[in-house]
Amino acid sequence: KRIDYYEVYAFKTFLYIFNTYKTKDLDSFLKLQTVESKHKYEGMVSFPRNTSNLIFNYIINTKEVIDIFKDAYKSNDVHKDIIRKKLYTHLSTTYNNLKVYNIQQLHFHMPNNDSFLRFHRPDKFGDNLATVRKTVARANGHKVKVEGFEEGRVFNGYRFVYPLFDEKENHIGSVEISHSIGSFKSIYQRAFKDIDLKMILSKDVVSTKVFKDEKKNYEQCVINEKFMYQKSMIMKKYVEEISESLKNRDDVQNKMNNFEDFSISVVYKKCYYVVSFIPIKNSISKKNVAYAISFQKSKYLSRFYKDSWLHIISIFSLSLFITLVFYYISKYHVELKRQVYHDSLMNIYNRRFFETYLAEACHRQQRNGADLSLIMFDVDHFKHINDTHGHDVGDEALIALGEIVTNNTRKSDIFARWGGEEFMLLIEANETQAYKVAENLRVAIQNGTKELVTVPEFSCSFGVAGLNNIENIEDACKLVDEKLYKAKDGGRNRVVI
Ligand code: GH3
Ligand code: MG
Ligand code: MG
Repeated sequence: KRIDYYEVYAFKTFLYIFNTYKTKDLDSFLKLQTVESKHKYEGMVSFPRNTSNLIFNYIINTKEVIDIFKDAYKSNDVHKDIIRKKLYTHLSTTYNNLKVYNIQQLHFHMPNNDSFLRFHRPDKFGDNLATVRKTVARANGHKVKVEGFEEGRVFNGYRFVYPLFDEKENHIGSVEISHSIGSFKSIYQRAFKDIDLKMILSKDVVSTKVFKDEKKNYEQCVINEKFMYQKSMIMKKYVEEISESLKNRDDVQNKMNNFEDFSISVVYKKCYYVVSFIPIKNSISKKNVAYAISFQKSKYLSRFYKDSWLHIISIFSLSLFITLVFYYISKYHVELKRQVYHDSLMNIYNRRFFETYLAEACHRQQRNGADLSLIMFDVDHFKHINDTHGHDVGDEALIALGEIVTNNTRKSDIFARWGGEEFMLLIEANETQAYKVAENLRVAIQNGTKELVTVPEFSCSFGVAGLNNIENIEDACKLVDEKLYKAKDGGRNRVVI
């Protein structure tokens, strides 16, 4: 029967709410991942910081080293060379040993920011670092320890620059003790075994800061063309493949171009990964210069997507269930209505329905003035049929009568059992037309029952009343009842108008 569209709307609404809820859930999870990744990154910096501090305090800032280095600034180039060689000889073994602890940079500078000795490139010196290496400039200028991420001529990384003083507290230059990005990455990955870290550097930075002959150490980053990637850092295959897939993601590209911090979920070989992008600022200029990108397999995401399916299935089942409940309720409702307004023996309308309908029809008639007539009829000597043939045959006779009347009236005519063997017929016709209808019916009943073998022949008496000048339904029923009485009185099997 009739299924309301409410169920469809209910289903759609369910899905909408569910999706919004799930998306919000995923969004907040990813936001949390971003925050967590930032904390991890910042937390990891304390490891290189501690190592650098130790090296500075116990190896560099010692009497032997200071004594070698203290006169360098005041000396001429020849003497500077001697000091440089002396310093190199004194510390080169230590430097090589420190490499085991991931120290990449051991770099002495003059107070005017000239490079004095790079242990990783001992033959490159004398260049002024003031513009490229703001950490060095600040350490010399303010005579304070400076730390933070900074790009350099050769390496990029988290830097620790310490001012140096002689025994009379005269400023004699500075020294940098730093870890390379690569070593930072390996420290990070050792601490967080399930995370792979990828560091990429803004292309502008590489082109403006890195020594020309060191540029070969960099290659184009596969994720976004505005970034470079240090070749020496070998990444796992899955990291490379996920990175490759990200170059087609507009959301990633847009956010990277704006140096936003964000996390995304990625599916790779049926596993879910969280990829978090942490922008790294130059510690002095506060400009974003690099990204630390962490790749981590996520059990939460796998469960999240699996649960999504479970939720969809359960929402679907729930909706289906509700739909069925609605369907059966409405079916039941229709059946209930049918029972309330129908006569169970004859399967035609009952008096309850007819009274309601008649009242409405009279109202309508008063408004639009259409013709409306009432026919009331009653089986003649029905008691006699019951008495002679039995009550069952009486019932059969009533059923047969119902069929004859239904077959000889229009669909739009309202035919109802008024009580016992009394019936009402409401037709859209004037009194004269109604009279003809009643007369036809009278003949049809008489002839019809004559042909039936299961029930005896019988007739009906009719009263007809036009409703055009009727005030209320009680009057109408009373009037048509009187006419019927007259028909009975007048000898039965007739129509009285
Ligand atoms: P009249 O020509 O004056 O109408 O005579 P009548 O015998 O038809 O009238 P009366 O009112 O005396 O009797 C009606 C009978 O109809 C009485 C009642 O038992 C019977 N009757 C009413 N409803 C049913 C029914 O559902 N089935 C059967 N078998 N008989 C019914
Ligand atoms: Mg009767
Ligand atoms: Mg009667």
